Amino acid sequence: MSNTGIIIIGAGQAGAMTAAQLRQLGETGRITLIGDEAHVPYERPPLSKDMLLQPAQTRCAIHPDDFYQQHDITLRLGVAVAEIDLQARTVTLADGEALPYTRLVLATGASARRLPMLDALGAGVHTLRTLDDAAALQGVLQAGRRLILVGAGVIGLELASTAVDLGLRVAVVESAELPMMRATPRLLAEFLCATHRERGVALYMRSSVVAAARTATGLALTLSDGTCLEGDAVVYGIGVVPNTGLAQAAGLAVDNGILTDAQCRTSHPDVYAVGDVAACQAAPGLPPVRRETWENANWQAELAARDILGLPLAQNIVPWYWTDQCGLNIQLAGDMSADRWIVRGALGAGPCLLLGLSGAELVAAITVNQGREMRGAKELIARRACIEPAVLADTQQSLRNLSRALPA
Ligand code: FAD
Ligand code: NAD
Repeated sequence: MSNTGIIIIGAGQAGAMTAAQLRQLGETGRITLIGDEAHVPYERPPLSKDMLLQPAQTRCAIHPDDFYQQHDITLRLGVAVAEIDLQARTVTLADGEALPYTRLVLATGASARRLPMLDALGAGVHTLRTLDDAAALQGVLQAGRRLILVGAGVIGLELASTAVDLGLRVAVVESAELPMMRATPRLLAEFLCATHRERGVALYMRSSVVAAARTATGLALTLSDGTCLEGDAVVYGIGVVPNTGLAQAAGLAVDNGILTDAQCRTSHPDVYAVGDVAACQAAPGLPPVRRETWENANWQAELAARDILGLPLAQNIVPWYWTDQCGLNIQLAGDMSADRWIVRGALGAGPCLLLGLSGAELVAAITVNQGREMRGAKELIARRACIEPAVLADTQQSLRNLSRALPA
């Protein structure tokens, strides 16, 4: 490979892990990781949780500070890539500097979807995507204050939990019938709704904000049913938009994400896309899927690095993510649109396991404060195991043992 090297645009989870994987898997040429944020690459999951609950004890960096130097990875932070020239194989930075590449990896992530009506209120209105956003929220989340959250997705519910723990009074406004419906089945969404209400959160479902104003005593939001909520601060989390602008302007194929094949290769042979920005078509004929999870960012980083280096493919994984809220560690794996769910234990009464079936096959699992069962669950899902529902429901049967008992 020529010494112009590999350039990675976006120094978030997927970008930093791609750089690390390339070195770990044997790349000896130049690797340059370019990020528009000023911080060394950091993990986002703590931003809605420990960074707000116990900031002094929380470290977000993905790698130790000297990692990049030790692994000869050039970090260019605080500068955006403004343009990609696929023909010339160069990227141009916002300050005008042009850098040549042999291979390019796009790891530009996603940005919070904007709600102009709320943005127009100015001070007191927040979104949460970056470390700087979380730092701004630390000053806002003070005991006794009134917080209005718009959107009851993962951000809304994790922040509701955090804010209650910190002693705030919390209201949540959600347009859908139930919270977190993008990535959870109905029975878990109903449980989460009830759990947050028990903790004193006022949840307004099937509601949207129709008017917003600043009053003498705070920020006032009028909901679609006429309810008026007043708060000291508003945080909204209504989903994300993938950062595809650079790719689109360069002429890469884009459709709600940068389109890739199963190895994260884009429509141009020198260019890869990984993480939240990548819309991956696992096989010809299947619809592209864009996943917004920490694990997907790490996994696609390995896929791309292996393909760049001509190494055997990484093994397929069962999609997995977690959320921590209301004292519950909830881990979710597989296809959340399963036809029916078997409940081991009871939601709300200690550790619990939900197993999702499509036909006779196990296609999904959710653990609630029972993460030790997740490994076995993923193994069974990967093999689309067909196990009698009575056996799956039996709390005496560990999933690991059931997995080991399957024929090879
Ligand atoms: P990002 O982390 O968004 O990184 C992309 C980077 O590229 C950013 O720094 C961006 O500024 C930069 N960039 C964009 N354009 C340019 C440009 N032109 N030039 C230079 N740099 C550029 N997932 C879970 O599975 N579990 C969790 O508990 C969880 N909690 C989360 C909590 C919060 C508050 C958030 C926001 C996300 C959470 N996630 C969680 C999701 C997970 O963090 C993301 O899926 C992951 O960060 C995606 O990584 P990424 O590298 O693709 O994108
Ligand atoms: P989300 O897609 O999870 O949820 C958005 C919610 O907002 C949905 O419930 C949707 O119905 C609702 N909504 C949309 N428009 C609305 C409107 N106008 N008024 C009221 N409600 C509206 O997105 P998010 O919660 O904003 O999270 C953003 C990103 O952060 C995602 O990529 C997510 O995966 C990531 N994240 C992940 C975790 C985790 O995995 N534990 C935690 C926090 C954030």
